[in-house]
Amino acid sequence: MQEKLNTLKSKLKDITNLQKAAAVLIWDQEVNMPPGGAEARAEQLATLQKLSHEMFVSDEIGVLLGDLAQVDFDYDSDDAALIRVTRRDYDKTRKLSTELVEEMSRTFALGQHVWAKARQNKNFAEFQDTLAKVVDLNIQAAEAYGYDECLYDALLDDFEPNMKTSEVRTVFDELKATLVPLVAQISERVDAVDNSLLQQNYPNQAQWDFSMVALEAIGFDLKRGRQDKSTHPFSISFSVNDSRVTTRISEDTFPSSLFSTLHEGGHGMYEQNIGQSLDGTPLAGGTSLGVHESQSRMWENILGRSQPFWQFYYPQLQNAFPDQLGQADMNQFYRAINKVEPSLIRVEADEVTYNLHVFLRFELEQELLEQRLKIADLPAAWNAKMEEYLGLTPPDDALGVLQDVHWSGGMMGYFPTYTLGNIMSVQFYNQTLKEIPDLPQQFARGEFGALLSWFTENIHQHGRKYTANELLKRVAGSDTIDAKPYLGYIQQKFGEIYNL
Ligand code: ZN
Repeated sequence: MQEKLNTLKSKLKDITNLQKAAAVLIWDQEVNMPPGGAEARAEQLATLQKLSHEMFVSDEIGVLLGDLAQVDFDYDSDDAALIRVTRRDYDKTRKLSTELVEEMSRTFALGQHVWAKARQNKNFAEFQDTLAKVVDLNIQAAEAYGYDECLYDALLDDFEPNMKTSEVRTVFDELKATLVPLVAQISERVDAVDNSLLQQNYPNQAQWDFSMVALEAIGFDLKRGRQDKSTHPFSISFSVNDSRVTTRISEDTFPSSLFSTLHEGGHGMYEQNIGQSLDGTPLAGGTSLGVHESQSRMWENILGRSQPFWQFYYPQLQNAFPDQLGQADMNQFYRAINKVEPSLIRVEADEVTYNLHVFLRFELEQELLEQRLKIADLPAAWNAKMEEYLGLTPPDDALGVLQDVHWSGGMMGYFPTYTLGNIMSVQFYNQTLKEIPDLPQQFARGEFGALLSWFTENIHQHGRKYTANELLKRVAGSDTIDAKPYLGYIQQKFGEIYNL
């Protein structure tokens, strides 16, 4: 049996290597590639995806998995997890034909360029045919995967394994019941918080330098990772020892570059702290996008937008930007970076309104995939929901329906994981606080090592060994995702800021 296990591992290693080579091409595409490279890059990626797909769905891997299922491994061992997770991936992936995978890869790589141009021209019509193709390919994939309750389940499962659309809806309804009235209440006193000090010119280089200081301070290992700039901040990993993050700097929207860095750094540290023994295997990754997002949100929001963090960093920030911040005290700055205000762009939204942007996308995606909404009618449907949830109407498509890269890249069923991540971030963090009650005092001294160690020990090192629900149960003592701690966090923090 050991021989079969070794054969399986060696095959999976080749497949992982192909996928990581594709990841390097994707990183390059976003960070360095000139526009002229787009078509050739789409072909190169499609070839790599095709090869890795063919290798993975081979009958031989199925036979190996079948034989190894007879062995009684300890559930918590790496080998048991490898077989368990690979079996699940294998059964799912085998349902997609190689032709469909290749077509998806090519369409999604090219789609991003069509979308970028349409967005630049603020014209949804230029993107409409591509989106129709993306929706159609996603429907084909969902039908091939199969589902019990609804088509969306099959796609959601790619990003948040085992989660059902109906569960997401229940949790989102609970959030909505509190957040929608809270946003309305805060909107009535929008002037209670002044953030004009952020709307000054913050020089590019000083922003970059500060983001690098923060990235290293929270524990991102620069010997095993690096930060670059890209149009849309993202993180990607080539191995446990090579994790990439990017940020975006805009001189007049401070400090979104810093929050991007903390956010992507949170993703990057998850990948860096996966156990070395899992490197190069299918287990070396985040267990779900929601859990991944719980890490990025924690560093960005729970830490990065907290008073203790700025007690330590605000004097340094004032030194970096003496003209802009020299006259403002820390409390003014803390309130400014936490100002709640309905806005058009999801990635720039505050913690309270952010989830409303996710609800909108979650609902529209289901309508598109179930073909209840025509592609041509999407911009109008988008604008209507923006009005319903946030009381705003986008002046053009770039600030509305064209703002996100996800759909152009083929990702449907992904958006809910942002809010699931917000919820889990507080479930996990509350447990950390129980075990290390002086964490806020540590943050105020610029010490983040205990926080990172706790997450490495309890979550990161396991990679994909345990599912999101297993982690919640093992670590946070909860059977499932629970919105209450998150709502408690939001109500306390913003109740204080807005004196509610
Ligand atoms: Zn993220």
